[in-house]
Amino acid sequence: MTLAQTYGQAEVKDLLRRLLAQERLPHALLLLGPAGSGKLSLALGFAQFILCENKAALDACGQCNACLKARKHIHPDIHFSFPTVGTNVKSDAFLPQWRTAIEDNPYMEINDWLQLIGADNKQGNINKEECLNIIRKLSLKTFEGSHKILVMWLPEHLGKEGNRLLKLIEEPPPQTIFILVAENQELILNTILSRCQVVKVRPLQDEEVEEALLDKQLADKESAQAISHLADGNLNQAQKMASEKESDNASLFLEWMRKSYIGNGVELVKWVDKFSKIGRENQKHFIRYALHFMREYMLLKMSNQADVRLRSVELKTAQNLTKVIAFDQIEDIVQLLNDCAYYIERNANPKVLFLDTSIQLNKILKRKKPEVRTQVVQ
Ligand SMILES: [Zn+2]
Repeated sequence: MTLAQTYGQAEVKDLLRRLLAQERLPHALLLLGPAGSGKLSLALGFAQFILCENKAALDACGQCNACLKARKHIHPDIHFSFPTVGTNVKSDAFLPQWRTAIEDNPYMEINDWLQLIGADNKQGNINKEECLNIIRKLSLKTFEGSHKILVMWLPEHLGKEGNRLLKLIEEPPPQTIFILVAENQELILNTILSRCQVVKVRPLQDEEVEEALLDKQLADKESAQAISHLADGNLNQAQKMASEKESDNASLFLEWMRKSYIGNGVELVKWVDKFSKIGRENQKHFIRYALHFMREYMLLKMSNQADVRLRSVELKTAQNLTKVIAFDQIEDIVQLLNDCAYYIERNANPKVLFLDTSIQLNKILKRKKPEVRTQVVQ
């Protein structure tokens, strides 16, 4: 893919173009940014730009022999290294899946990848065999291009084995470039980090996420806007939310609030049973939505203005709720939802978790308002 095919990230693209134009390519470049910001997409675009045989000033041509191969992720001078599962396994064993995955979605996150290779609950690794394989591959001559490039996705998953690569990163064979793509600086071996030129990639802006969803025809204008507010600059999450056309988190949330407020045990258990079947990813989106709603609800209550980021139907509901939920209750509900998000992330049993959360929610909603409590104390 070309650099232009990555959404937003104008500053990073400019910097990469300058490095190439001024022949200041470092041995090792680390693109560091949050999930769903487009780092891997930038790395793929930059690798193609470096190898393009007919470069323009701003981007690869997209048509030369090198571009055609890079576009299909089969250029013999672009090597990939990424987390896998199992011992004695090299990344190359998963190349067919990898090519499909980055073609379908270069904004994917580690869990998407692990799920794809059937490793849901296992930790992905870039292991000793893979490190040895990298050393072997990069000691070969370039096949066709001006450079040999190794794109390593998520060097956070290199254990201590990564130290085997230090010498190679520090003094690579001629015309060899490492492009590392990482999310969490603290989890990268310091010895590796200190040998890289770090380029920070920021989260996408809401408008950029919205534009990307419209461009990919994943949502209409109103949903794209609403989703972009929820996605926190993560296009991967935004795409997932957009593809769940059937689910309507807004009405689901109101139903939950209503049932939790009434507190009928039988009804709550029924709701939780139904909800626990929608799948972990959807539950995560739901909680993210609920947190967004509560944030906007609080703003609405504070300012009493309609410039909050809610769709018209949600705004109406929120306005009705302002009489029911007080400030101290909002805080407690947000805390409860945050805890809930934490436990889903750690694979809690959804039935137990959501029933418990509903009961807690009932306690918060049924609590007497602070003004009333004050009177009781007096
Ligand atoms: Zn080209």
